[in-house]
Formats: sequence, C-alpha cells, structure tokens
Amino acid sequence: MIIDIPLETATRHEQHGRWPQAASVEDFRHNLATVQARIAAACQRVGRDPAGVRLLPVSKTKPEASLRLAHAAGCRMLGENKPQEAYRKWQAMQDLDDLRWSVIGHLQTNKAKLVARFATEFQALDSLRVAEALERRLQMEGRGLDVFVQVNTSGEASKYGLAPDEVAAFLQALPAFSALRVRGLMTLALFSAETERVRQCFVLLRTLRERLRQDAPAGISLDELSMGMSGDYEIAIEEGATVVRVGQAIFGARPMPDSYYWPGESSAQAFEA
Ligand SMILES: *Cc1c(COP(=O)(O)O)cnc(C)c1O
Repeated sequence: MIIDIPLETATRHEQHGRWPQAASVEDFRHNLATVQARIAAACQRVGRDPAGVRLLPVSKTKPEASLRLAHAAGCRMLGENKPQEAYRKWQAMQDLDDLRWSVIGHLQTNKAKLVARFATEFQALDSLRVAEALERRLQMEGRGLDVFVQVNTSGEASKYGLAPDEVAAFLQALPAFSALRVRGLMTLALFSAETERVRQCFVLLRTLRERLRQDAPAGISLDELSMGMSGDYEIAIEEGATVVRVGQAIFGARPMPDSYYWPGESSAQAFEA
C-alpha cells in the first residue's frame, strides 16, 4: 500500500532570477492562471476560501509595454516598489483609467507627495514621520489611502519595517491620521531556502495580528495580512496571507539584483549564481 504523505510546501527561491519573461497577453494570462491555481491549491490544503486571497501583481523594473500587456490580461492593480518609478508609470498610463496602484516599498517623507497623488494603497508604512507627511499631502489632494504597517519579522537589520514589539504603540497613534485607512500588516520573509525559517516569519506576523487585534484602536482594521512573493507565497497563504505580492512569477525575472530594492540584501545573490 502506498501511503500518501503530504510533502511540506517548499520555497521556490531557486527559481529566483530564472522566471521566464512574459512577452504577450497570452503569457500573462498563462502566468496569472498558474499563480491563481497555486493559490487555490494552497488554500485547499488549509481549508481556506481562495476568495480570501488577493493577488497583487508586482511590476517593478518592467517597462510600460509589459504593464499594458498585464492590464490587457486582466490586472487592475499593480504593485511598485519605488515611488518615483510608480509615479512615472502612472503618468504614462493615465489612459488606463481602471488601473490602480499599490506602493509596496519604503517611502521617504520627501516622496510622500507623489504617493498621495496617485496611489490607492501603500503597504510599507513604518514611521510616524511618513504617516504625517502622507496625511498632510493627502489632505491637500482631498484623497484617502489604504495603508499596511510593515513589520520586520526576519530580524534582519537590512529589512525595513517596525520591530514586532513596536507595532502596538504605533497603531495607537494612527487614528490621528484620518486620511490613512489602516487595513492590516505587511512583511517580507527571510529570503532563504530553509522553508521552516521562512514560515516562521509568516507565523510571527499572523500571531502578532491576533494579539494586536484585541487592543486595536477604533477604526484601525487589521483584517489584511500582506505576505508572500514569487518564491514563498504558497507558504504565506498556508499561514493566513490575504494579499500576496507576486512579481517575477507573472512578469518574468528582473534584470536588477534585489539589493537595488532591499538595501543590504545579499542572500538573494546566492540563488542567482
Ligand atoms: C519585488 C517585491 C515583491 C515581489 O517579489 P517577486 O520575487 O518578484 O515576486 C514583493 N514585495 C515587495 C516589497 C517587493 O519589493
């Protein structure tokens, strides 16, 4: 008799830098369908409804032509890491009036005005200075912004985000910013082929959310957990992700090393050799 022992979901980080380029609407449809199927399978493993997981395609570094193909394949929100790059793309694609933008990378206060102008969502809030700058600019624009508080769950000094034990006090300060609609928490896991260590980052974010929920101030919702990318989104879903940010598995590998986005990151290079 063959006993079917479920294998533990592994990372796909060995694919890093090797994902094939999407060059047509068909390629994008195919990649999106593949990712959605994997999302559904991960949900099924843990008894979740796939409707509770939002796929955010990440288009950073990719040219406008690629983004237009992704839009034609059905993408209606795109994630970008750098505010200036995102702003430039938004300006160039104003004709696509149903396309919305999520900024998922670190923000300096002097770029808050860009984000306030065009973004629907900002996933990397990690300081009151940035909250203040965004609030001021959003008030001027007469706009609101969905925000996620970024938490450093890997303990790496190179990663942005609040330390887990700083988040409770930070949340208490956020109701003062009426233009910021707090939706939940975001994290980047350790970039490692050691599945268990990656999973622990996701577990940490989920358990932190459960703890914080009880004392969260009125109006601060912690329903969302944004965690997981091309190499680890299936593990993130098993641990409760409601948003997965997937770039390379949809668009293809990026030409630039990850140190360009995540200063100090060196571990990614190990997978790119
Ligand atoms: C680039 C990026 C992603 C997506 O990474 P992929 O490996 O392309 O899936 C997710 N989150 C953040 C914050 C990013 O900068």
